[in-house]
Amino acid sequence: MKYMILLGDGMADEPLVELEGRTPIEAARTPNLDRMASRGTVGQFCPIPDGLPPGSDVGNLSLFGYDPRRAFRGRAAIEAVSQGIHLADDEVAFRCNLVTLEDGKMRDFTAGHISTGEGAALIATLQEKLGADFPLVFHSGVSYRHLTIVRASASASLDQLVALQCEPPHNITGQEADPYLPRGKGESIVHELIRRSRDVLADHPVNRARIAKGDPPATSIWLWGQGKAPSMEPYERKFGLTGAVVSAVDLVKGIGLCAGLEVLNVPGATGWLDTDYAGKVAAALGALSTHDFVYVHIEAPDETAHQGRADLKIQAIEDFDREVVGPCLTWAENHGDCRVLAAPDHFTLISTKTHAGGPVPFVLCGPGVPANGQAAYTERAAQASGILVSDGYRLVESMLRDATPDWLARNHDNAGDPIR
Ligand SMILES: [Zn+2]
Repeated sequence: MKYMILLGDGMADEPLVELEGRTPIEAARTPNLDRMASRGTVGQFCPIPDGLPPGSDVGNLSLFGYDPRRAFRGRAAIEAVSQGIHLADDEVAFRCNLVTLEDGKMRDFTAGHISTGEGAALIATLQEKLGADFPLVFHSGVSYRHLTIVRASASASLDQLVALQCEPPHNITGQEADPYLPRGKGESIVHELIRRSRDVLADHPVNRARIAKGDPPATSIWLWGQGKAPSMEPYERKFGLTGAVVSAVDLVKGIGLCAGLEVLNVPGATGWLDTDYAGKVAAALGALSTHDFVYVHIEAPDETAHQGRADLKIQAIEDFDREVVGPCLTWAENHGDCRVLAAPDHFTLISTKTHAGGPVPFVLCGPGVPANGQAAYTERAAQASGILVSDGYRLVESMLRDATPDWLARNHDNAGDPIR
């Protein structure tokens, strides 16, 4: 049996007045997801366990079949793995965003989607100016997404650094930023580092050029999502499967590497509406000639929702359906012995421009998966199905482990009885 997971990041949403009471998934034309729905099982599952933040790290861990309550150690450590950075035992990786503060408020958590080249120049200067005064190393990444590896010191122990309460900058758009600086024992070194970054960035030539062009400058770093080196049981041992991951996003590639999966790099994968969908699908389907499992991650529904743009989110969902789900489903149908799961990793709400927890819709089809009578893949259809997988990671566990997922059959006969 072959297995595909098609992940539309942050696809799930609420009914919106501007869409006449429909959600973006309901408003989008999704004939391929609906074809999966009519042939398979539509239901709800909870990728974000109670008490954990509704981030892509936690959600994607569930969708790879790992219990986030055990596997989750902060997204930055996973991103570090994906960049080939080895974390020593006394080191903690922080996600380091380049952000735009204006009058002390978080104007843009992406510094205007600053280019990778500009970001790298700023990060190099930060390392040069601050590297001697703090026990840290900066690593530049893609666009506004970078890493700061902080070593435990007399100012902050390893446990203190890990335990700091850090706010994701995309959660505080438009708000006064400094009240959300990391909180907890050992916070002062991190505060000092962030404040010093503002002096270094203030008059940087990259920022002067951006201001001259009318682009938002990167005025500060923002540290969050920290963690120690992750430890996850490899897929081959956990599920007896080999597999591959296709994503534009370091976080998802990192989870794949931690899981012992092959990470396929597609040059035109951007994480935005202009991503190379055909290239990603070709890489994924090619991988299935040698692997059992492939995970295709599409970021655009999440990014468009962070912008609060229902029209763009609908476009992203329609692109996902047409360019990804369509060809993958056709491949699976021709192959015959292949299960396909499509799902988001969390809600990304147009109304708040941020993530939210709670049960999201999935659709699963293929051998041994009964049709449960839903004609469409939507939040409402999933809720109406009466199927709820409370421990979200068990959805993938069942899909990958069971010849026949008996919990599906059982729940199918017993609608309304949630799976625990
Ligand atoms: Zn996500």
